[in-house]
Amino acid sequence: MEVTIQNIRKEFERFPALNDVSLKIASGELIALLGPSGSGKTTLLRLIAGLDFPTAGSIFFGDQDASHHSVQERNVGFVFQHYALFRHMTVAQNIGFGLKVRPAANRPPKAEIRRRVSELLEMVQLGGLEKRYPNQLSGGQRQRVALARAMAIEPRILLLDEPFGALDAKVRKELRRWLREFHNCTGHTTVFVTHDQEEALELADRVVVMSQGKIEQVGSADDVYDRPGSPFVFSFIGESSQLPVEVRDGTVLFQGQPIGSAQGAAGAGQLFFRPQDVELVESQDALSGKITALRRLAGTRIAEIDIANDGHAPYHVEVEVPLHAPVELGSTLRFRPTRWKIFPIDDAVRSVR
Ligand code: ATP
Repeated sequence: MEVTIQNIRKEFERFPALNDVSLKIASGELIALLGPSGSGKTTLLRLIAGLDFPTAGSIFFGDQDASHHSVQERNVGFVFQHYALFRHMTVAQNIGFGLKVRPAANRPPKAEIRRRVSELLEMVQLGGLEKRYPNQLSGGQRQRVALARAMAIEPRILLLDEPFGALDAKVRKELRRWLREFHNCTGHTTVFVTHDQEEALELADRVVVMSQGKIEQVGSADDVYDRPGSPFVFSFIGESSQLPVEVRDGTVLFQGQPIGSAQGAAGAGQLFFRPQDVELVESQDALSGKITALRRLAGTRIAEIDIANDGHAPYHVEVEVPLHAPVELGSTLRFRPTRWKIFPIDDAVRSVR
């Protein structure tokens, strides 16, 4: 089911939790809503679900305007972070619940409900556990029961709010892989909320990056990581450092010294680069600073560097250095970014507050 979100605004006592949000979700897509706390992810998910209604704007399911339809009319399945399974019901009863409480006119016969429940149990790989109660399951198993319960009503779209939020890192990883495979098999249009960028980049066909009630960028993992469209996206996804520069006659100047060349508009800008996108150099016409910390990661090291700033607080940047490069704490490192993006200074200051 294709979902079209058109110029949505949502206010809570005049506070705009969402401000002019538009998004087209293709049928069968797996979409992540990613952003810091308070950026509006859950609000958007609740509006798609029909748990709440927009102040302005519309939501279409296919070509039907569903903006004022109830949850039942929308036929969506959702799973929230605190997977509230019914404690007094077995796994099978939990999964069959949505079908059992349907109005008599479109409630499937008992045998049909049983058949569907056992099909779903197989799908979420919990065959054999149907008689257990939620407190006899692991966190990951409970989460899969919650997913099966959401799927039982054959929803047109599946909405997941921080579906793995409460689980430990290892189980999260397993469930992530599992959800991807599950999605490949069932092909449901799925939207999930996360503030975990790895989860979003690994799982989603497209990532919707949100900040302060707005969509900053929509794109594949490669798009948002390699081609961030705004200073906010550059600094929110992955590691990055920034330096104020000036572009003049195609040359990038930092503290008046040339450090590279750039096309495009002249003037003051903020240069963003990732720690791995640098080369260590010997020459004097490069950036240089004092190593204040060396952090060992699995296969590499990150040097934290202070670049002197004429009596003001130094600029702090991070640069990747190979494991065996002869560098040490307190020494001077010379380096040059090999890949970067310069944003106009006003945009950079406004959005990376
Ligand atoms: P988190 O990752 O912390 O869950 P989020 O991105 O999902 O954050 P939302 O829950 O959508 O953010 O909230 C967006 C903004 O709207 C926040 O500033 C929040 O305080 C506000 N908000 C959300 N629900 C309500 C409500 N029912 N009443 C008043 N303000 C609300």
